[in-house]
Amino acid sequence: MFSMDLIQFQRLFNKEPRYRLEQAKKALFHDLIQNWQEAVVLPLSLREELNKKWPIEISAKTFVSKDRNTIKALLTLKDDLKIETVLMRHKDKRNTICVSSQVGCSLNCSFCATGKMGFKRNLEVWEIVEQVLFFARYLKKIGERVTNIVFMGMGEPFLNYQNVIGAIKILNDKEGFNLGARHFSISTVGIVDGGIEELAKEELQINLAISLHAPNDELRSKLMPINKKYPIKKILNAVDDYIKKTRRRVMFEYMIIKNVNDSEEHAKTLVRLMKKPLYFVNLISYNPTGIFKSSPSSRIKKFKEILEKDGVTVTQRYRFGEDIEAACGQLVAKDGRK
Ligand code: SAH
Repeated sequence: MFSMDLIQFQRLFNKEPRYRLEQAKKALFHDLIQNWQEAVVLPLSLREELNKKWPIEISAKTFVSKDRNTIKALLTLKDDLKIETVLMRHKDKRNTICVSSQVGCSLNCSFCATGKMGFKRNLEVWEIVEQVLFFARYLKKIGERVTNIVFMGMGEPFLNYQNVIGAIKILNDKEGFNLGARHFSISTVGIVDGGIEELAKEELQINLAISLHAPNDELRSKLMPINKKYPIKKILNAVDDYIKKTRRRVMFEYMIIKNVNDSEEHAKTLVRLMKKPLYFVNLISYNPTGIFKSSPSSRIKKFKEILEKDGVTVTQRYRFGEDIEAACGQLVAKDGRK
């Protein structure tokens, strides 16, 4: 499950006593050091070797929203490609990191800016972990910590399944970053084989979210071309199996776009799909990416009321970081954009 670079990391400890690797992991994931020189429990020669062969410095350009609750980091990878990661600081002290799983995305959903840059490549396990470490180090300086990790950044996590799960395992590992499984969420367009089906088999208590966005296949296919391969019924069948196996709740994300999917009729059709135990709907307002418009809040309220009146559980997503283009669907990793 470990990626090549982590295997290399462990190899560096082959000739060391067993406890050295544990000390190094503690320094990296718990003390959140930025450079091996800071790991003073390790002998100087080992620190120097680690710095040379497995450096841990992470450099990024950051953008802070006006209300200071959202910080976006633009990270440059070793092949000079760029990805974006977002920290959202909630009022109740939760700190959520929104991580990317791919550079770009191949799915080309009409409303999402990431799709417009095309697909470049999958991220490696360590490139996913680093996004979290970057903000964990930042938060530590102000006496806070990462409380939640969501795979809702650039890319489709289930098209990079092995590396996403590999990263989660390290971040969840007691000897690694040690964040409880329930604090992770994966959002997917609804990849069934090699995605929802695979996750149901893992013994991991993480959260699953499905980007639904439309209550019928005709509209969903227009918004999300992948719907032709994974239409709504196929996804819901896989989700039902997942729920049977895991007994976990599943979130359905529904982004409200003006005059596209926000009518009473749409809400009523959605009710018919969503009225099931352990299903719940997360309403998201559309963040401007060019083509569509967001619905007025009165329309969103009405939509929500229809769902609730018919017994569907609904939550609403707070919109973070729109002014720095860090909100859902706005991540494109263009340097110097702002
Ligand atoms: N590919 C995965 C992970 C990305 S998650 C997925 O689609 O689920 C990003 C979430 O933001 C998804 O629910 C996505 O549909 C949504 N999103 C994309 N563009 C958006 C926009 N312009 N406004 C609001 N949400 C958007």
